[in-house]
Amino acid sequence: MSLQDITARITKAETAAGRLTGSVKLIAVSKVQPDERVQAVLEQGHRCFGENRVQEAAGKWPGFMEQFADIDLHLIGPLQTNKARQAMELVSSIHSVDRPKLAKTLARLAQEIGTCPDLFIQVNTGEEDQKAGILPADADVFIAECRGLELPVQGLMCIPPVDEEPALHFALLAKIAERNGLQGLSMGMSGDFEQAIALGATHVRVGSAIFGERVRPQE
Ligand SMILES: *Cc1c(COP(=O)(O)O)cnc(C)c1O
Repeated sequence: MSLQDITARITKAETAAGRLTGSVKLIAVSKVQPDERVQAVLEQGHRCFGENRVQEAAGKWPGFMEQFADIDLHLIGPLQTNKARQAMELVSSIHSVDRPKLAKTLARLAQEIGTCPDLFIQVNTGEEDQKAGILPADADVFIAECRGLELPVQGLMCIPPVDEEPALHFALLAKIAERNGLQGLSMGMSGDFEQAIALGATHVRVGSAIFGERVRPQE
């Protein structure tokens, strides 16, 4: 696969779903990929990337940002409150807002810094113990709480369980977003982004299908 192939498949999925071309944003997930691969995708003109970890992003992206204008970086992995400031100064979107303590920290820092990245609330649609995210039953209250803190909540994000039909999880996420009046849906990865687009994804997070298998696994 290549960036071009993925872009073509996204366009096709948009058309099949009766959606406008370009309505889905491709976040190229560059976590643990060697710099040469990331550089190659930047040289093809792509500017929207996703990273899982603040530390790794902070090591890798300031250099690329000096070389390439208009990089749009998204944090898609768990965020500890003590890394929140660093994340807010580096990325344009955070997809992993998942608990009141983090929401309060982001709100306080947004006041202090004067801006805030676009935010997505992560929903643990599979109710998995090991996975981050607010439980579906608690989502409405948490969304209201974030709005009460005047956070710029753009939408919801989910990572379906590996062994379940992802479409059920995408549909559930879309339903929670709709009843809360949220437009953004961050869902779909290398194996299922077309299904996610059919169910309304506005942001797909695609890593290995663009860059190849990750060289070293993340623990
Ligand atoms: C790694 C990761 C992805 C990309 O996964 P691929 O299967 O390589 O496309 C998407 N979303 C999140 C949250 C990730 O951690």
